[in-house]
Amino acid sequence: TVQSQAFYLKPGEMCGNAWQGKAQNSILCWGRETDCHMEDWVFSTHTPVHHTGHEPGFVQIVNYYRGSGCLCRKTSMVSTLCKQWKETGQEPFEWLPPSFILYPNITPEQEEQSDLKSFIAQKKRSIKTDEREEFKQYFERVRSEGKGCIWIVKSAAGAKGQGVLISSDVEEILHFTDSKSQAHIVQKYLEKPLLLSGDRKFDIRSWVLVDTQFDIYLYKEGVLRTSSEPYNATDLTDLTSHLTNHCLQEHSQNYGKYEEGNELFFDEFNRYLQSQHSVTLSASILPQIENIILECFKACKEHLSTAGFAYKSFQLFGFDFMIDEAFKVWLIEVNGSPACAKKLLPSLAESLIQTAVDPVFPLSQEQQITAENLFTKINYNLTQ
Ligand code: ADP
Ligand code: MG
Ligand code: MG
Ligand code: MG
Repeated sequence: TVQSQAFYLKPGEMCGNAWQGKAQNSILCWGRETDCHMEDWVFSTHTPVHHTGHEPGFVQIVNYYRGSGCLCRKTSMVSTLCKQWKETGQEPFEWLPPSFILYPNITPEQEEQSDLKSFIAQKKRSIKTDEREEFKQYFERVRSEGKGCIWIVKSAAGAKGQGVLISSDVEEILHFTDSKSQAHIVQKYLEKPLLLSGDRKFDIRSWVLVDTQFDIYLYKEGVLRTSSEPYNATDLTDLTSHLTNHCLQEHSQNYGKYEEGNELFFDEFNRYLQSQHSVTLSASILPQIENIILECFKACKEHLSTAGFAYKSFQLFGFDFMIDEAFKVWLIEVNGSPACAKKLLPSLAESLIQTAVDPVFPLSQEQQITAENLFTKINYNLTQ
């Protein structure tokens, strides 16, 4: 279904001379899925950007914005989005659960050891101070205000719900992160999520495309990844009821019982919202989603911009959201190499080519694609 000419690469394969394709060629890299349920090939950020030396007369476009790690790495997202809040005390983005960065604390005994791991950890620790004191204070404040005391700990580069701890015990949280060699974020757990039939939790995956002009598009279709087990806030050890990643849900006896592959698409979710809660996706949820996406890119535009570079960038992002019982949307994380629900991949790929690639490499009249483009531009003005 991809109409433009493209190079298909295996994971990790280098593009080499592929970059110096003819000017008519659009250049794309594909990689393996980032979420193991989704078996299709997806757009990848594993692009050898250092191979993009400029060849006069050739237009190069890369499906990667250098610097996108400032959103897609969990710790970097926290420093990017919480910077103002922590430095100036200004209110944080009200859609981001309060989050802090923790580095493993190196004991004097560990410092004595000369093994590489603790050496690196020690280096990291000496360069950046973590936020454990701020976290402890904030934990106490939120708890005493009756706003809950459950937090979720995720590793900096973690994915697929791996290496996660959910806990309401500060000591347990710090012990957990200190026993690891990489940085973690500790984030306020959303204790009262909106639930589906069977009292099940879910998160929402939305696909967002940033084109070569830094215009931002939201894909019309999205998917809810649902839990197979009823949500139980009093048992923090049963991760299947708390984490909605397919990789975890797959192991549940009830996987696929409520929705095929634990996936619920927007149309059906909208029907659920209307019939059970008298709200709609378009009036109550999507405006919040669009606003969060815009605020994110506003906050990190200067890190991402490739203006003045010899190549043009575009990138597909996977935004993960949750909704609480008051229908407020929260940002959970941003993925830079997002998996796509199998059912949606063909039209997502086609819409992506139409939106990000065709304007750079215009098609002749006969080549024009007639399929509907499901990416809609979010209107904004970044200078605002
Ligand atoms: P990953 O990269 O592993 O998918 P996420 O940040 O998306 O990392 O977390 C995995 C899952 O954990 C989410 O899909 C969601 O179900 C749950 N989760 C993550 N953060 C929170 C939070 N702050 N409150 C409640 N649930 C959360
Ligand atoms: Mg992720
Ligand atoms: Mg993920
Ligand atoms: Mg996720």
